[in-house]
Amino acid sequence: MKKVGYVYHKDFLKHTTDRYHPENPQRLKAIDKAITDSGLIEKLTIIEPKPAQPEDIQLIHTEKYFQIVKSTQDHPLGDYDADTYYCRHTYTAAMLAVGGVLQAGQMLMDGKIDCAFCAVRPPGHHAEADHAMGFCFFNNIAILAKWLLQNHNLKRIAIIDWDGHHGNGTQHAFYASDDVHFCSLHLYPFFPGTGKPSDIGTGEGESYNLNLPMAYGSDDEVFLRGMRHNWVPAMVKFKPEILLISAGYDGYCDDPLVPLEITRDAYQEATRTAKRVADKYCQGRIISVLEGGYNMSFLGQAVIDHLNILME
Ligand SMILES: [Zn+2]
Repeated sequence: MKKVGYVYHKDFLKHTTDRYHPENPQRLKAIDKAITDSGLIEKLTIIEPKPAQPEDIQLIHTEKYFQIVKSTQDHPLGDYDADTYYCRHTYTAAMLAVGGVLQAGQMLMDGKIDCAFCAVRPPGHHAEADHAMGFCFFNNIAILAKWLLQNHNLKRIAIIDWDGHHGNGTQHAFYASDDVHFCSLHLYPFFPGTGKPSDIGTGEGESYNLNLPMAYGSDDEVFLRGMRHNWVPAMVKFKPEILLISAGYDGYCDDPLVPLEITRDAYQEATRTAKRVADKYCQGRIISVLEGGYNMSFLGQAVIDHLNILME
């Protein structure tokens, strides 16, 4: 059985607002409750995060933007944009989220765990170098990839983003790089508006960016075909040393935000497909980072399924 790390911290729940918002603390509560109630928690290696350092954030984000996010601590509540709220604790939660994914990375590279799932919030894949958007402040997975390249002498990192929205921030972070292969499966056209298949990267990064857009109402077949027929062959060519997953579950058929029709079975199959790639090229090394997913009853189940498959 593989040793799987689980990143969670109660302070992730403190990022909240005073009105209804789909990206709320109940999401992580649902995940943690499902993992605890099922007994799965006993089999996981618990990783309690410490805050990231400012220089970790600046691997991807500008100093000016970092200071803007830091300054949100001085305000009880506010809105960065129409979608993206903050409160006094948002900065603390966001620093812990990055700290958590980096700790998972360190433990994995030290051989203490084989894989990890990071149940963090705020989510990250929409966050750009110099601004927040789409509920995201710091791009957790992009920072992890950059940190692994710089600190662990890795040369080829693959990121697959199966959240129902395009991972614009992650795409932009590595658009001109050939050391990170980024693939996003997402509803298109839809928020955030990016994610065209013709966006394949630029300069040295050309052909290292793979967008697999899906039309409204796309189902399991479209989703899994993209993974098997497009992403897997790209991985056979790229031969990543580690696989990072932007694990978002808002493409689920009963999710309130994204009109896709992906079922529980397909998400299980997506994890199995990712695992086969990681087993073949990455010595099984996978770090998954939570992005979206707004159906509270499914979210816990989806994460349990994902963890069970990683553990096999
Ligand atoms: Zn999403």
